[in-house]
Amino acid sequence: MTAASTESKLQPVPGRECGSCSLCCKVYNVPEIQKAAGKWCGQCKPGRGCKIHDNLPDQCATFNCLWRTEAAMPAQWKPDQAKMVVTINPITRNIQVQVDPGLPSAWSRQPYHDHLRQWATKNMAKGQYVVVLVNELATLVLPDQDVALGPLAPEQKIAVRLEPGPNGGVYEIKVSTTRTTDDGQTFEIASSSRHPVRSAA
Ligand code: SF4
Ligand code: SF4
Repeated sequence: MTAASTESKLQPVPGRECGSCSLCCKVYNVPEIQKAAGKWCGQCKPGRGCKIHDNLPDQCATFNCLWRTEAAMPAQWKPDQAKMVVTINPITRNIQVQVDPGLPSAWSRQPYHDHLRQWATKNMAKGQYVVVLVNELATLVLPDQDVALGPLAPEQKIAVRLEPGPNGGVYEIKVSTTRTTDDGQTFEIASSSRHPVRSAA
C-alpha cells in the first residue's frame, strides 16, 4: 500500500467524525515517515489521535476514508467497528477494502460480506471491482464468489470478462501491471485465471 493508493480529497459528511477511530493509522503504510502497513504508527495514540497532528505527513493530511465522505455508507462500516477501512483506489478506481490484520476474517462477517457482494454486483459492469486486502494479500469479491489473487500492488489493474456459456459461463480474471523502460517504451505484464460462474450474476 502506498500513499497514492489511499489519497482522498473528498470532504467529510457532516456528523461523520473519526472520534475514537484511528484504524487508518494502522492498516496503511506511510513512506514519508517509514511507517509499515499493518502496524500502529509510532505517532498514534489509538483511540486518542495523532501526536504530530500539527505536522502531518502529506498522505495523512489528505486522507479520508469512504465512511467519512460517502453518506450512503451504512453506519456499521465505521472502521473501528467494521475493522476495515474502505477507499476508492485513485489509480484503478476500484473499491478497496483494507482489513485490520488483527482480525483478517473481518470482511467475511455479516452484514459486511453481503454488502461487499452487493457492491460487486452493482459495479462490475462498469469495470469497478471490489478488492479486499489483508496487508498486500488481495481477494477479489465477485457477485457470486470470492477469488484469492495473492499479493497485489496498488497500481496493478484488474479486468474481469464474463464469457457466456452453459451454467452461466466463466469469469476470466486478468491482473496486469504496466512498466516503462528507460527509453520510454511501455509494456504490460499480466496473468489470468478462469473461474466458472456459480450462480446467475
Ligand atoms: S479510518 Fe476513517 S474514520 Fe477512522 S480515523 Fe481514518 S479517516 Fe477517520
Ligand atoms: S502520522 Fe499521525 S495521522 Fe499519520 S499514520 Fe501516524 S498517527 Fe496516523
